[in-house]
Amino acid sequence: MSQGEPPPEAPLVSDSGMRCLVCDYNVTGLRENRCPECGTEFDPDLLRRVAAGQPIPCTPWDTRVGFVGFWQTWAMSLFTPWRLADNFAPRHNVRRAVAFTAICYSLAGGTFAYCVLWIGLRTGTVDDALGLVSAVLVGAVFACWLCETLTSAALALLVKPTCAKSRYHFWRGIAHYTSGFTLLTAAWGACGFYWNTWSSGAFISLWFPAAVIFLWWVLALLKTILRRNDSGLRAVLACLVVPVLGFGAILVGYWSAIIVFMLFAGLWNW
Ligand SMILES: [Zn+2]
Repeated sequence: MSQGEPPPEAPLVSDSGMRCLVCDYNVTGLRENRCPECGTEFDPDLLRRVAAGQPIPCTPWDTRVGFVGFWQTWAMSLFTPWRLADNFAPRHNVRRAVAFTAICYSLAGGTFAYCVLWIGLRTGTVDDALGLVSAVLVGAVFACWLCETLTSAALALLVKPTCAKSRYHFWRGIAHYTSGFTLLTAAWGACGFYWNTWSSGAFISLWFPAAVIFLWWVLALLKTILRRNDSGLRAVLACLVVPVLGFGAILVGYWSAIIVFMLFAGLWNW
């Protein structure tokens, strides 16, 4: 072919990048909004936005900036996780999801630090309180981050979510929106410190609420797995893996908190 000559046969319809969200079939230029491969109906506008890499709003936090959006999303992730699963977009807004996690961690850490330092000041144990706050914050943030990252990676390996563009992107997003549980954990931690300071020895009995919070987080995540999986038995396996990984991450966080506490104690000779 000589230079400047047009290609012999130009395609009639250029590839729009629109793919079926269930089976990834190329649905460019179809007359009917139904995938010929798997029979799933689709919204062409949604597929066009996904193809263009645009995030789709899927939580109240995506559309409402401020307290109301945050509160509604927090409540949704805790009390109606199936709604979070059903509404979760093929491509969510990563920045908003990360911001949600950051706010949850900051609120949880701030509440815990404020309560413990206040109790420390009132009981004259502010030095111990400072060490405890620093150690627990390092351990807790590390444990929560590890827990969310490990479970997202494991879920991405095991479970293919329905109507999603990327496995890890989807599960990481879901994990970000389970960060709301850190607020419950912080409240539990502050109560534990309160009772441990004023009536020593009561701390053991507080492991029961901690177990309830952990179990609640596991159940919320399992609900989303069972709602949005295309993996059959592998989804059941994922349901077994999630609590084990979560618990492992908590143990790692617990020990890292103890190491940080000992480091501080050694540095300032408490
Ligand atoms: Zn299809």
